Amino acid sequence: MIPFNKPYLTGKETQYIEDAVKRGKISGNGDYTKKCHDYFETTFSFKKALLTTSCTDALEMCAILANIEQDDEVIIPSFTFVSTALAFVRQGAKIVFADSYKDNPNIDADKIEALITSNTKAIVIVHYAGVPCDMDVIMNIADKHNILVIEDAAQAICSKYKGKYLGSIGHMAAFSFHETKNIISGEGGLLAINDERFINRSEIIWEKGTNRAEFFRGEVNKYGWVDTGSSFLPSEIIAAFLWAQIENIKDIQNERLKHWHYYHSNLQEWANKNNIQLMPKPITESNNAHMFYLVCESENQRTSLIKHLKNNQVLAVFHYLSLHASDYYKENHDNRKLPNSDKFTDRLLRMPMFYELKPENVVHQLITFNG
Ligand SMILES: *Cc1c(COP(=O)(O)O)cnc(C)c1O
Repeated sequence: MIPFNKPYLTGKETQYIEDAVKRGKISGNGDYTKKCHDYFETTFSFKKALLTTSCTDALEMCAILANIEQDDEVIIPSFTFVSTALAFVRQGAKIVFADSYKDNPNIDADKIEALITSNTKAIVIVHYAGVPCDMDVIMNIADKHNILVIEDAAQAICSKYKGKYLGSIGHMAAFSFHETKNIISGEGGLLAINDERFINRSEIIWEKGTNRAEFFRGEVNKYGWVDTGSSFLPSEIIAAFLWAQIENIKDIQNERLKHWHYYHSNLQEWANKNNIQLMPKPITESNNAHMFYLVCESENQRTSLIKHLKNNQVLAVFHYLSLHASDYYKENHDNRKLPNSDKFTDRLLRMPMFYELKPENVVHQLITFNG
């Protein structure tokens, strides 16, 4: 069976973990964590980078930093992972769900302004499949109404919008290193801060509401409880694993991009014949090959295609059931219809994508499907 995902190991992960253990400092914020922070700040131009135990945790930190309180409104696309919304719901926010574009699962930027009220505190956008949202439009709206933009960049590492890395444009951003993402640490994430106002507080929230980071830099002579927070920082074992991945990030991206282009150039004819849409090709700088997806003509067609692939030893999966229609939140959703989000819920299908993939083996099976 060709799996949907297979975590790729560069070979140095366990060596660096062993090194971290030998150094005798395996809790958080040690040498490997600092190396990772430096790398992200320098390469991606974040004002501050903080490793977290997941992207979900980084989003929770964003919700705290944005001072989200009971009944504040947060605009979020409905077609996304649960965490994008959950992090803000936990702070008491009311989620105002936005629709996707017709031909792209990202939030429809032209429909955001109509959702803003005097209670709107933030817009959380998701760069689906690593493809950038319309950041110029979104940042303009946010400036005009004095609200924050938080980028859920879980899928977006290495992808750019107009020369800037995704995650470096909004006020803050969250990345994921879950084993299904491009670079991984099992579970893991990153908070990126681009607005200086949030830097000091981010370090405090990261370390259980204490000013321990300032203490270790010698800026204060004792540390204590100064704010809210949690234990958001990962251990050095995770950071050491991640460092091995970072060292190989160029190679990892190149391999994935090769697979992506193989899919795109070998499936067009078959897709046309079957009335299936291929994921639109992003411009070069905006393609991080996180994902290759198809949009089927109907839910039935998708079901048959999944079955066909499974019978031929290929595991293709779909995801994201529109959050506005979820069991947990549908009662809170005002009855607005979000047809594009629902369309992707019913018809989007993701092809296997991982470093060691042989895409020709998937394409070979795909093109025998007619229906
Ligand atoms: C993977 C993902 C997350 C969650 O990441 P974790 O690191 O597992 O918490 C959040 N949002 C999006 C869009 C994702 O793809």
